[in-house]
Amino acid sequence: MSANASSAISQPILDLAHDFPILARPVRGKRLCYLDNGATTQKPLSVIRAESDFYEQSNANIHRGVHWLSQHATDLYEAGRATVRAFLNASHDDEIVFTRGTTESINLVAQSWGRANLKAGDEILLTGMEHHSNIVPWQLLCHQTGAQIKVAPIDDRGELLMDQYEAMLSPRTRLVCVAHVSNALGTVNPVDEIVRLAHGAGARVLVDGAQAVAHQSVDLQAMDCDFYAFSAHKLYGPTGIGVLYGKRELLQAMPPWQGGGDMILTVSFENSTYADAPQRFEAGTPNIAGVIGMAAGIDYVLSVGLDRIAAHEQHLLDLATQEISALPGVRLIGAARKKAGILSFVIDGIHPHDLGTILDSEGVAIRAGHHCAMPIMTRYGIPGTARASFALYNSVDDVTALVAAVRKAQALFG
Ligand code: PLP
Repeated sequence: MSANASSAISQPILDLAHDFPILARPVRGKRLCYLDNGATTQKPLSVIRAESDFYEQSNANIHRGVHWLSQHATDLYEAGRATVRAFLNASHDDEIVFTRGTTESINLVAQSWGRANLKAGDEILLTGMEHHSNIVPWQLLCHQTGAQIKVAPIDDRGELLMDQYEAMLSPRTRLVCVAHVSNALGTVNPVDEIVRLAHGAGARVLVDGAQAVAHQSVDLQAMDCDFYAFSAHKLYGPTGIGVLYGKRELLQAMPPWQGGGDMILTVSFENSTYADAPQRFEAGTPNIAGVIGMAAGIDYVLSVGLDRIAAHEQHLLDLATQEISALPGVRLIGAARKKAGILSFVIDGIHPHDLGTILDSEGVAIRAGHHCAMPIMTRYGIPGTARASFALYNSVDDVTALVAAVRKAQALFG
């Protein structure tokens, strides 16, 4: 790595690794080089403390108690909703539904909006690069309703073929679902244009933001999509908590998908009536500490600044792309002109799992496999890739360690 490579852009952000206790622990006797951020990010102390403080000082069930502690916990939980609304620049707090994560958010839309609105002959337009979470819920829905899935193709670079995309939209298209950023390729999809085209055809739009929210700011009023989903754990927050954004008028018109406490107005054995959204979609005791931890993760990201994070990660991605693609026998999978945080590649003669294992012995954590996106692997004719994915705490040293470990693997495989 050249001395110039360590540019001034990334330097000011390096110290942030100190906010993440886990990054100080050695792994296999080596400095941990954590490049599996697309799977989940590490957590800053502020997030860890927010959760433990809740259990130490504020724990009670919400929305039900007349006692002080319950009202206090409710206030913290609802403040988390306001934090998410502001983070996404949604119009109203009641457009934010708390779920277990992206997967549950998408299943919620499929089972509530989808079952109420789709019928045989209707079409759902996906793209060839979706995560299984944005494929399988729609397949289940199609089995239930007789609707059909169509798949928009991508080119070798890993970009959507927008002419073909537009041509696939028709009056039959009721919903389009698209990853904001592909977890397997890193492609940033043109979601603004997709929303415009889909709305022009009369279709609703669900954007899977799982891989986007940690890497760029999202303005849902500007994007104008109908649904947006993400998981806190890929945004420096806890696991088991996430968000479904839905436009107010859509959520208010949707039937509940899970029944239980907290989502009702009245219950008798003959009939029940339901609370307004978002409570209608939050049956049972929610992950209260998770919401508080998620809000702390958002506060942390905002305190660093998403523009600064994006510039830093782009710098690391460019460096890693340059260094890894210069190695013999390497093929990059996905070379979109606009990418965020992800470098996917294969190497002649080394299975991605073997590569991942050798990198692990060097303390370098990457992901190897199909990344829950089997159809895109089939599209490229490969079983899987090695995927290095970046976060705000990664450094040029991490890129150096990655490249050195890949070289070592190549030497071992001769
Ligand atoms: N969508 C994309 C693009 C993802 O990368 C992921 C996780 O890797 C998911 C959906 C599913 O997220 P979760 O497992 O947090 O529900």
